[in-house]
Amino acid sequence: MSNPRRELPSVDAVLSHPLLEAVPGPRVLKRRAVREVLSAARNRLTDEDDLNGGQSLIAGAPEALSRSEHGRHDSAVLDSLARAAAARARGLAVPGLRPLVNATGVVIHTNIGRSVLSEAALVAIREAAARYTTLELDLESGERGARLGTVRELLRELTGAEDALVVNNNAASVLLTLSTLAAGREVVVSRGELIEIGGSFRLPEIMARSGARLREVGTTNKTHPRDYEAAIGPDTALLLKVHRSNFVMQGFVADVPLGELTAIGRAHGIPVVEDLGSGALIDLSARIGPEPTARESLAAGASIVMFSGDKLLGGPQAGILVGDRTLIGRLTRDPMTRALRPDKLSIAALEATLRAYLEPERAWEEIPTLRFLARPAAELECAAQSLRASVAEAAPDLEVTVVPTTSRVGGGALPMAALVSAAVALRPRPGAGKVETLEVELRLADPPVLGRVAEGQLLLDVRTLLPGDPEQIVAALKRRSGRTKER
Ligand SMILES: *Cc1c(COP(=O)(O)O)cnc(C)c1O
Repeated sequence: MSNPRRELPSVDAVLSHPLLEAVPGPRVLKRRAVREVLSAARNRLTDEDDLNGGQSLIAGAPEALSRSEHGRHDSAVLDSLARAAAARARGLAVPGLRPLVNATGVVIHTNIGRSVLSEAALVAIREAAARYTTLELDLESGERGARLGTVRELLRELTGAEDALVVNNNAASVLLTLSTLAAGREVVVSRGELIEIGGSFRLPEIMARSGARLREVGTTNKTHPRDYEAAIGPDTALLLKVHRSNFVMQGFVADVPLGELTAIGRAHGIPVVEDLGSGALIDLSARIGPEPTARESLAAGASIVMFSGDKLLGGPQAGILVGDRTLIGRLTRDPMTRALRPDKLSIAALEATLRAYLEPERAWEEIPTLRFLARPAAELECAAQSLRASVAEAAPDLEVTVVPTTSRVGGGALPMAALVSAAVALRPRPGAGKVETLEVELRLADPPVLGRVAEGQLLLDVRTLLPGDPEQIVAALKRRSGRTKER
């Protein structure tokens, strides 16, 4: 038999196949897809040539190839390669970052972009993006102005801080603080607070990268004031407190409350900085659960408090630092701050989000993250009943019910808060396939619909559904029913 590699069609031959002609989008992406598919086929042939002559491996269409008559060989190979390339080209044509329907019941979910922004923030982003702006211009003098002018004032007002700074994200806040205030010196942290949060943020690793030396004190479950006292020496730069955002410790445990820690710090002239993680700006305890606010931490004597912009605050990705004038001033002037600065779109969105907090009732209404978290049970039940009715109609092969469920705050905040919610539960009727398949089908829908599988049902929690989402869910189920009937 001849060398099958030589029989692979040319790029142009595959490119002009009707299957590829039918794919919309720029030719350059189609060409790329064809090259990738041909190169993969060539590699498979190289690897397995001797085993089976390579034929069955071409573009993974074994039956078509082995059944093909000798004369039809080339066209079968071409069809199979074109099919693979067309699928790949379609994949390249869809935007990599696209909206999806969050029916997971997790309000702040890092993998799907954390907080949905308020209308005011969207308007601000649009304006800042489409026009020239006063970003760093002082209109009075005509000279260069401060990038964070108004945001800084708003943060001071909302937290009672002397000064404020904003960087790219909260990991950057921690890195900047440790590097600027403690490089080459020691930072004392309780062993109970050496946390990892999802997505590669591990406190000891950030600490190492900053050049500060980690001085661990206490044990996993108990840290006492005397542990901090004993660790403090001439090399101590900071005492660091880290909010246990995403877990709780129960049982035989003890830690040193912030107020006591700042008293120790004051006695030794050492600043206490707190990584608050999610960081609330208003009291959430009545509607969601107890989460410390930045204002409380400053009132308890912390010199710097840092938190994320896109967790409980409900704004854009940002790292916010508030606190002591002298220390924030040192951070502001550090060259690293220039490298970590937020862009104008984030600043625009953050300012609009912060403004809502000047009137807390407005924040609860306008900021989606807060609104989702506080949605009343009756409203959720009502939304679930309405979704159930249209889903039942769209998918007769599914048993559709409304079940009580619990949503999660997510985003490393209030890990134990179980928010009473309602979900539409989908269970394939006998013979209608597995619930796991249904989950995949909805996840691969356009737009993707994310739910969660529990006890043989796919749960669609309605808490985080946005206007238009119920219609998207119904449309995805209708398309799926159409396909199921064809099969
Ligand atoms: C989320 C979190 C961070 C990291 O914040 P990003 O904004 O994701 O960079 C740091 N520390 C704590 C305690 C957190 O919860």
